[in-house]
Amino acid sequence: MEQKPKIKEQSLFTQRRFPCKACGANLIFCADVDALKCSYCGAINQIKPPPLPIRELDLKNALQQIDSKPWHIEEKRNFKCPSCAASFKVDDYIRSTRCPYCNTPIVTNADIFMPLAPKSLLPFDINQKEAKEIFKKWVGSLWLAPSSLKRIYDTDSTLKGIYLPYWTYDSKTHTQYMGRRGIVYYDRVTRRVYIDGREELVEDVVERIEWTPVSGEVYDDFDDVLIGATKTIPRKLADALEPWDLEHLVPFDPRYLSGFESETYQVALDEGFDYAKEVMRYQIQNHVRHDIGGDRQVIEDMRVYHRDSTFKYILLPIWTAHFEHSGKSYRFAINARNGKIVGERPYSKLKIFFLVLAVLAIVGAFFYFGSQDQVGTSTMPHIQVQPHGTIIHLRF
Ligand SMILES: [Zn+2]
Ligand SMILES: [Zn+2]
Repeated sequence: MEQKPKIKEQSLFTQRRFPCKACGANLIFCADVDALKCSYCGAINQIKPPPLPIRELDLKNALQQIDSKPWHIEEKRNFKCPSCAASFKVDDYIRSTRCPYCNTPIVTNADIFMPLAPKSLLPFDINQKEAKEIFKKWVGSLWLAPSSLKRIYDTDSTLKGIYLPYWTYDSKTHTQYMGRRGIVYYDRVTRRVYIDGREELVEDVVERIEWTPVSGEVYDDFDDVLIGATKTIPRKLADALEPWDLEHLVPFDPRYLSGFESETYQVALDEGFDYAKEVMRYQIQNHVRHDIGGDRQVIEDMRVYHRDSTFKYILLPIWTAHFEHSGKSYRFAINARNGKIVGERPYSKLKIFFLVLAVLAIVGAFFYFGSQDQVGTSTMPHIQVQPHGTIIHLRF
């Protein structure tokens, strides 16, 4: 574990500059060439990070070294644009952004105020134009989406490229369990019934379970359990962006961040490990059930011991935007490595209204003709519409 400075009182908040070798203009990272590209003269400036191995760090050591006190020393930091000299404030977890006045990329040393700095990242592979196309297709595929949503991808400013902080955890686990194994068998049971006033015996087959107490132990090794360390994107959304091609991680270099927003972690290392342990526990449970065997399993007690736990602090690239509809905010995100899109989505109340009308008309017609033909007893349709939820149930 590399010795990392604790929060330093005198640490200076500074900005890094990446001038073009050809013309001196500010460079931004370009996904198409996997290098920095000058937007003025078009010169390509290669990033050649030192070929360091991507290493796992010892979790126990790191937790002992990290101060237990909160790391945030201020809520907002003052940025001064190196290009237009405008001053503006941003949240202190922002590592890189763009000047809101002239759009100049700004990368800072915000990590030195944190107990840990990222050691590796996956560079952007999908550029903004491609991300917009993915969003456009997604919106087009949405059923009952409001028409206003389709206007969003016409504006550039809404789609932001962000490097999100993630923890990955490895752990070797040993689990002791106690429970019961159930074997299903079938029994014949006779009962008396009365048919047309006459008593008869009927034989039924009933399912029964024979339970046996069991105990045992299982071993599971986990590799790269990924836990989002951001609070900007809901956990559900961040989790849904998997899979990530972590085998292609490159050593961290601030030049990759130029032109994108990036954040320091907002979920602590130990808090992240608690989430990871839950993820692992779920998989261990499946292993235990398999180990118990039989037709049914009950786990009464399960003790999980972790050893040789390690972690990595990495940055992963996404494109994201949020949009307002009927006073509510919705967010979507695109994995900027494989193009997978996930998102919350609004429903058009107007479109739902007409859909319900149409359904009622069909149901009405069905009942009308149904009663004329004396075709008996259909059940009432059950229509449940949730304009702001993610599910529409139409059950008949
Ligand atoms: Zn240039
Ligand atoms: Zn500026």
